[in-house]
Amino acid sequence: MMSTDTVLVPRIETLLGIWAHPDDEAYMSAGLMARVRQTGGRVVVVTATRGENGTEDPQGCPPELLAQVREREMHASLDAVGVREHIWLGHHDGELAQIPRAQGVAQVVEILRRVHPDTVVTFGPEGMTSHQDHQTMSQWVTDAWLCTGSRSALWYATVSPEFHDSSGVLRSDASWSSTEPGAPTTEKPRLNRSGQRARRRKVPNPPIE
Ligand SMILES: [Zn+2]
Repeated sequence: MMSTDTVLVPRIETLLGIWAHPDDEAYMSAGLMARVRQTGGRVVVVTATRGENGTEDPQGCPPELLAQVREREMHASLDAVGVREHIWLGHHDGELAQIPRAQGVAQVVEILRRVHPDTVVTFGPEGMTSHQDHQTMSQWVTDAWLCTGSRSALWYATVSPEFHDSSGVLRSDASWSSTEPGAPTTEKPRLNRSGQRARRRKVPNPPIE
């Protein structure tokens, strides 16, 4: 049986990852970025916002401070997988859906033409965590990819079958960062180790934004 480490992935010369917030690139594509760099490829990462509103305690961690922390963490994270090229789109966290779609698409088109990737990776239409910024990025990237003639491969990030099995089915309205009453739940589809019946549980907090 083929291990996940040997799943056939075509050789990538230039990978362009396009995301909404610092840390999206890591939990969505760190392994892929590392693989491309290890095999001599180029990796360019684009981030739309600095993630300044990604806290439930804006008094304790004001937006500008949080942006600096997340920016620093992201660059350390990219450095760990050998990525040196990064581009900001300069938008505000949580506001991507309010930006005219043509404006966002034009930004991505310009980057596609400048970087010439053979592979682009971003969120699928569902946005992985249902975050509206994630869904918006998926729209912008997909539109831009179509506008530029679909010259590269376009990949949508997803979860592995093993993650899916262990974490249950993420419902379409799930948000991993929600703590609101009635927060979305995941189904545990099997008996757990102690033999208890399958049950619903709160999606863990915090916060992958
Ligand atoms: Zn995010």
